[in-house]
Amino acid sequence: MLLSHVHQAITAAPEIATTLDFEVIIKFADLVCWMKDEISSVQPPHTDCDVSRLASLVPGTNVPVVPTFCNFLMSALGITDELTKILWASLKDVAWNLQLGHESAVKRRVQALVELFLQHGYPHNIMLYHFRPPTRTCLDPQCAHSARGTDHTQLQAHELGEPSSFNATAFTRALGPIPARSTSFYCRRCHTRYYPNYYVHAQATTRTYYHKQTPKFLQIAEHFFVEDEVCEMFASLMCVSW
Ligand SMILES: [Zn+2]
Repeated sequence: MLLSHVHQAITAAPEIATTLDFEVIIKFADLVCWMKDEISSVQPPHTDCDVSRLASLVPGTNVPVVPTFCNFLMSALGITDELTKILWASLKDVAWNLQLGHESAVKRRVQALVELFLQHGYPHNIMLYHFRPPTRTCLDPQCAHSARGTDHTQLQAHELGEPSSFNATAFTRALGPIPARSTSFYCRRCHTRYYPNYYVHAQATTRTYYHKQTPKFLQIAEHFFVEDEVCEMFASLMCVSW
Protein backbone atom coordinates (compact mmCIF):
# COMPACT_ATOMS: atom_id res chain seq x y z
CA MET A 1 0.00 0.00 0.00
CA LEU A 2 1.44 3.30 -1.06
CA LEU A 3 1.75 6.15 1.43
CA SER A 4 -0.08 8.33 -1.07
CA HIS A 5 -3.13 6.08 -0.63
CA VAL A 6 -2.99 6.53 3.12
CA HIS A 7 -2.51 10.25 2.66
CA GLN A 8 -5.61 10.43 0.49
CA ALA A 9 -7.60 8.50 3.08
CA ILE A 10 -6.42 10.76 5.88
CA THR A 11 -7.20 13.83 3.83
CA ALA A 12 -10.72 12.57 3.24
CA ALA A 13 -11.18 11.57 6.88
CA PRO A 14 -8.94 13.43 9.37
CA GLU A 15 -10.33 11.27 12.20
CA ILE A 16 -8.13 8.44 10.93
CA ALA A 17 -4.91 10.40 11.50
CA THR A 18 -5.92 11.74 14.89
CA THR A 19 -7.26 8.46 16.27
CA LEU A 20 -5.55 5.46 14.70
CA ASP A 21 -2.01 4.11 14.62
CA PHE A 22 -0.51 3.37 11.22
CA GLU A 23 -0.31 -0.29 12.25
CA VAL A 24 -4.10 -0.44 12.65
CA ILE A 25 -4.58 1.00 9.17
CA ILE A 26 -2.28 -1.66 7.68
CA LYS A 27 -4.08 -4.41 9.59
CA PHE A 28 -7.44 -3.12 8.39
CA ALA A 29 -6.30 -3.13 4.76
CA ASP A 30 -4.76 -6.61 5.06
CA LEU A 31 -7.86 -8.09 6.70
CA VAL A 32 -10.23 -6.60 4.13
CA CYS A 33 -8.02 -7.76 1.29
CA TRP A 34 -7.73 -11.26 2.74
CA MET A 35 -11.50 -11.51 3.24
CA LYS A 36 -12.65 -10.30 -0.15
CA ASP A 37 -14.39 -13.61 -0.86
CA GLU A 38 -16.06 -13.46 2.53
CA ILE A 39 -17.36 -9.96 1.91
CA SER A 40 -18.41 -10.47 -1.69
CA SER A 41 -20.12 -13.79 -0.92
CA VAL A 42 -23.22 -11.89 0.20
CA GLN A 43 -23.70 -10.59 -3.33
CA PRO A 44 -25.48 -12.68 -5.98
CA PRO A 45 -23.02 -13.96 -8.58
CA HIS A 46 -24.89 -12.27 -11.42
CA THR A 47 -23.82 -8.89 -10.07
CA ASP A 48 -20.32 -7.55 -10.43
CA CYS A 49 -18.47 -7.95 -7.18
CA ASP A 50 -16.65 -4.68 -7.56
CA VAL A 51 -15.93 -2.36 -4.76
CA SER A 52 -18.36 0.31 -5.91
CA ARG A 53 -21.22 -2.10 -5.29
CA LEU A 54 -19.79 -3.01 -1.95
CA ALA A 55 -19.80 0.62 -0.95
CA SER A 56 -23.42 0.19 0.12
CA LEU A 57 -22.62 -2.82 2.24
CA VAL A 58 -21.85 -1.00 5.44
CA PRO A 59 -23.32 -1.33 8.92
CA GLY A 60 -26.85 0.00 8.94
CA THR A 61 -27.88 -1.77 5.75
CA ASN A 62 -29.84 -4.99 5.78
CA VAL A 63 -27.14 -7.22 4.33
CA PRO A 64 -26.57 -9.80 7.05
CA VAL A 65 -22.95 -10.82 6.70
CA VAL A 66 -21.46 -7.35 6.61
CA PRO A 67 -22.43 -6.37 10.16
CA THR A 68 -20.81 -9.63 11.19
CA PHE A 69 -17.70 -8.73 9.28
CA CYS A 70 -17.66 -5.21 10.72
CA ASN A 71 -18.15 -6.58 14.21
CA PHE A 72 -15.10 -8.75 13.63
CA LEU A 73 -13.05 -5.75 12.46
CA MET A 74 -14.19 -3.64 15.40
CA SER A 75 -13.32 -6.36 17.86
CA ALA A 76 -10.04 -7.44 16.23
CA LEU A 77 -8.70 -3.93 15.76
CA GLY A 78 -10.14 -2.53 18.97
CA ILE A 79 -11.85 0.37 17.23
CA THR A 80 -15.35 1.81 17.41
CA ASP A 81 -18.23 1.16 15.05
CA GLU A 82 -17.96 4.72 13.75
CA LEU A 83 -14.23 4.40 13.01
CA THR A 84 -14.84 1.09 11.26
CA LYS A 85 -17.32 2.82 8.95
CA ILE A 86 -14.89 5.67 8.32
CA LEU A 87 -12.02 3.29 7.55
CA TRP A 88 -14.25 1.28 5.24
CA ALA A 89 -15.41 4.36 3.37
CA SER A 90 -11.87 5.76 3.06
CA LEU A 91 -9.74 2.70 2.41
CA LYS A 92 -12.01 0.13 0.80
CA ASP A 93 -10.70 0.75 -2.71
CA VAL A 94 -7.07 0.49 -1.63
CA ALA A 95 -7.68 -2.58 0.50
CA TRP A 96 -9.72 -4.30 -2.21
CA ASN A 97 -6.88 -4.04 -4.70
CA LEU A 98 -4.06 -4.54 -2.25
CA GLN A 99 -3.44 -8.15 -3.13
CA LEU A 100 -2.64 -7.47 -6.74
CA GLY A 101 1.02 -8.42 -7.08
CA HIS A 102 1.49 -8.75 -3.35
CA GLU A 103 -0.21 -12.05 -2.53
CA SER A 104 2.67 -13.57 -0.61
CA ALA A 105 3.32 -10.40 1.42
CA VAL A 106 -0.35 -10.06 2.35
CA LYS A 107 -0.50 -13.78 3.22
CA ARG A 108 2.52 -13.46 5.54
CA ARG A 109 1.08 -10.42 7.29
CA VAL A 110 -2.38 -11.96 7.68
CA GLN A 111 -0.93 -15.25 8.95
CA ALA A 112 0.76 -13.17 11.65
CA LEU A 113 -2.74 -12.06 12.66
CA VAL A 114 -4.01 -15.60 13.18
CA GLU A 115 -4.58 -14.85 16.87
CA LEU A 116 -7.09 -12.18 15.87
CA PHE A 117 -9.05 -14.75 13.89
CA LEU A 118 -8.92 -17.26 16.71
CA GLN A 119 -9.94 -14.78 19.37
CA HIS A 120 -12.30 -12.43 17.54
CA GLY A 121 -13.27 -14.25 14.34
CA TYR A 122 -14.28 -17.63 15.71
CA PRO A 123 -17.34 -16.24 17.60
CA HIS A 124 -18.56 -14.76 14.29
CA ASN A 125 -17.77 -17.88 12.23
CA ILE A 126 -15.03 -15.90 10.52
CA MET A 127 -11.90 -18.01 10.09
CA LEU A 128 -8.51 -17.40 8.57
CA TYR A 129 -9.43 -19.94 5.90
CA HIS A 130 -12.95 -20.36 4.51
CA PHE A 131 -13.04 -22.96 1.75
CA ARG A 132 -15.64 -22.49 -0.97
CA PRO A 133 -16.18 -23.85 -4.49
CA PRO A 134 -14.30 -21.87 -7.12
CA THR A 135 -17.59 -21.18 -8.89
CA ARG A 136 -20.91 -19.67 -7.85
CA THR A 137 -22.80 -20.92 -10.90
CA CYS A 138 -23.36 -24.44 -12.23
CA LEU A 139 -20.59 -25.74 -14.48
CA ASP A 140 -22.64 -28.38 -16.29
CA PRO A 141 -22.94 -27.25 -19.96
CA GLN A 142 -26.21 -29.15 -20.38
CA CYS A 143 -27.63 -27.50 -17.30
CA ALA A 144 -26.48 -24.16 -18.64
CA HIS A 145 -27.99 -24.89 -22.07
CA SER A 146 -31.40 -25.66 -20.57
CA ALA A 147 -31.75 -22.20 -19.10
CA ARG A 148 -32.92 -19.79 -21.77
CA GLY A 149 -32.98 -16.02 -21.68
CA THR A 150 -30.53 -13.20 -21.62
CA ASP A 151 -27.01 -13.65 -20.29
CA HIS A 152 -28.10 -11.99 -17.09
CA THR A 153 -31.15 -14.19 -16.51
CA GLN A 154 -29.22 -17.30 -17.58
CA LEU A 155 -26.58 -16.54 -15.00
CA GLN A 156 -29.27 -15.94 -12.42
CA ALA A 157 -30.84 -19.29 -13.28
CA HIS A 158 -27.52 -21.07 -12.74
CA GLU A 159 -26.77 -19.59 -9.39
CA LEU A 160 -25.82 -22.19 -6.86
CA GLY A 161 -27.85 -22.12 -3.70
CA GLU A 162 -28.63 -24.01 -0.53
CA PRO A 163 -25.28 -23.35 1.14
CA SER A 164 -24.14 -25.88 3.67
CA SER A 165 -21.38 -24.75 6.03
CA PHE A 166 -19.49 -26.41 8.82
CA ASN A 167 -16.35 -25.91 10.84
CA ALA A 168 -13.24 -27.78 9.78
CA THR A 169 -9.55 -28.02 10.54
CA ALA A 170 -6.91 -26.75 8.13
CA PHE A 171 -3.43 -28.24 8.45
CA THR A 172 -0.94 -25.59 7.37
CA ARG A 173 2.85 -25.64 7.24
CA ALA A 174 3.31 -22.18 8.75
CA LEU A 175 0.67 -22.30 11.48
CA GLY A 176 -0.03 -25.97 12.11
CA PRO A 177 -3.67 -27.05 12.52
CA ILE A 178 -6.08 -24.13 12.77
CA PRO A 179 -9.88 -23.77 12.71
CA ALA A 180 -11.37 -23.24 9.27
CA ARG A 181 -14.78 -23.19 7.64
CA SER A 182 -16.07 -25.05 4.62
CA THR A 183 -19.11 -24.22 2.50
CA SER A 184 -20.70 -26.17 -0.35
CA PHE A 185 -23.49 -25.10 -2.69
CA TYR A 186 -26.19 -26.96 -4.62
CA CYS A 187 -27.62 -26.69 -8.13
CA ARG A 188 -31.32 -27.52 -8.04
CA ARG A 189 -31.55 -27.82 -11.81
CA CYS A 190 -29.12 -30.72 -12.16
CA HIS A 191 -28.95 -31.88 -8.54
CA THR A 192 -25.24 -31.37 -8.16
CA ARG A 193 -23.51 -30.24 -5.00
CA TYR A 194 -20.36 -28.17 -5.35
CA TYR A 195 -17.68 -28.61 -2.70
CA PRO A 196 -14.42 -26.64 -2.34
CA ASN A 197 -12.34 -29.20 -4.29
CA TYR A 198 -14.91 -31.07 -6.40
CA TYR A 199 -18.58 -31.48 -7.32
CA VAL A 200 -20.82 -34.55 -7.20
CA HIS A 201 -24.13 -35.25 -8.90
CA ALA A 202 -26.79 -36.57 -6.55
CA GLN A 203 -26.79 -39.97 -8.28
CA ALA A 204 -23.12 -40.12 -9.15
CA THR A 205 -20.62 -42.39 -7.47
CA THR A 206 -17.53 -40.41 -8.36
CA ARG A 207 -16.29 -36.90 -7.73
CA THR A 208 -15.23 -34.47 -10.42
CA TYR A 209 -12.33 -32.27 -9.36
CA TYR A 210 -12.12 -28.70 -10.60
CA HIS A 211 -8.39 -28.47 -10.82
CA LYS A 212 -6.00 -30.28 -13.07
CA GLN A 213 -3.32 -29.34 -10.59
CA THR A 214 -3.34 -29.93 -6.86
CA PRO A 215 -5.49 -27.30 -5.14
CA LYS A 216 -3.94 -25.06 -2.51
CA PHE A 217 -5.88 -26.94 0.18
CA LEU A 218 -6.80 -30.56 -0.36
CA GLN A 219 -9.89 -31.90 1.41
CA ILE A 220 -8.76 -35.24 2.83
CA ALA A 221 -11.84 -35.93 4.97
CA GLU A 222 -15.14 -34.18 5.49
CA HIS A 223 -13.80 -31.84 8.16
CA PHE A 224 -10.08 -31.80 7.32
CA PHE A 225 -8.09 -29.84 4.75
CA VAL A 226 -4.34 -30.06 4.17
CA GLU A 227 -2.25 -27.30 2.61
CA ASP A 228 -0.28 -28.27 -0.48
CA GLU A 229 2.97 -27.28 1.26
CA VAL A 230 2.27 -29.85 3.99
CA CYS A 231 1.69 -32.55 1.36
CA GLU A 232 4.95 -31.61 -0.33
CA MET A 233 6.75 -31.69 3.02
CA PHE A 234 5.45 -35.21 3.69
CA ALA A 235 6.53 -36.33 0.23
CA SER A 236 10.02 -34.90 0.77
CA LEU A 237 10.33 -36.48 4.21
CA MET A 238 9.35 -39.87 2.83
CA CYS A 239 12.06 -39.56 0.20
CA VAL A 240 14.87 -38.64 2.59
CA SER A 241 13.84 -40.50 5.74
CA TRP A 242 15.96 -43.57 5.05
ZN1 LIG B 1 -26.69 -27.42 -12.67
